[in-house]
Amino acid sequence: MGKIVEVKDLTKNFYTKDGEMEVLKNISFHVNEGEIFSILGPSGSGKSTILNILTKLLEPTSGTVDINGTIGYMFQRDHLLDWRTIMDNITIGLEIMKRKDAKSIERIERLLKTYGLWEFRNMYPKELSGGMRQRVALIRTLSVDPDILLLDEPFSALDYQTRLMVNDDVYRIIKNENKTALLVTHDISEAIAMSDKIAVISKRPSIIKSEHKIEFEDLKEDRTPFKCRKVPKFQTYFDILWKEIDNYEQQ
Ligand code: ADP
Ligand code: MG
Repeated sequence: MGKIVEVKDLTKNFYTKDGEMEVLKNISFHVNEGEIFSILGPSGSGKSTILNILTKLLEPTSGTVDINGTIGYMFQRDHLLDWRTIMDNITIGLEIMKRKDAKSIERIERLLKTYGLWEFRNMYPKELSGGMRQRVALIRTLSVDPDILLLDEPFSALDYQTRLMVNDDVYRIIKNENKTALLVTHDISEAIAMSDKIAVISKRPSIIKSEHKIEFEDLKEDRTPFKCRKVPKFQTYFDILWKEIDNYEQQ
């Protein structure tokens, strides 16, 4: 398995009217092809900043980022456009990239059919539940067939029950489609349920405190986030991570 993302000694300082703020300090990690890798850290620790550097929305102060492939970015809010149908929301990336060809449309139709959205393709976003909207947002992210998905707390705007459902949805889709994903979250349970590996980052200035391989041997191919939450090993991981993470927010 090759490395699809490699980040070395990443540092980021912001300059604001109140002076200099050290956000990231020596962040190094890599993501292997096919894995779901999570960065777990408190709010304000710089998780979104890391993703913004990976997509080149922001320049790092120092350090290097190597990405072997194309990126799809999924946000906390679904950013669906109310005046476009589900289908037209999904094809928007392809339109922008001028790649709305027969092959891409065929792939999107397959995704819609496989993941239960086909009957909804001509509806508008406001007619769908929050959970389905996030599924649409994921399919939209997949429409351009990216090699790696960056997921910035994509579940945090959903209520608890919906979140559990969407965890399962997103996990299944990522694994079925053989994608690699980098998820950032402040939620310990979600990180354990979703990930093959977790890197814990500290409060600011953030460093990687530890990395944890997450394996549920008893579940094997049957692994789903929901099932993970019910096995004893889940609690073991939770206790370890609870001690690692700095449990408070920063402004
Ligand atoms: P997280 O995603 O972990 O909650 P962020 O990466 O959004 O954290 O932000 C980390 C810190 O950097 C926060 O204190 C935030 O206010 C600050 N920050 C983020 N973006 C900017 C920016 N463009 N300019 C100045 N400060 C910023
Ligand atoms: Mg954030």
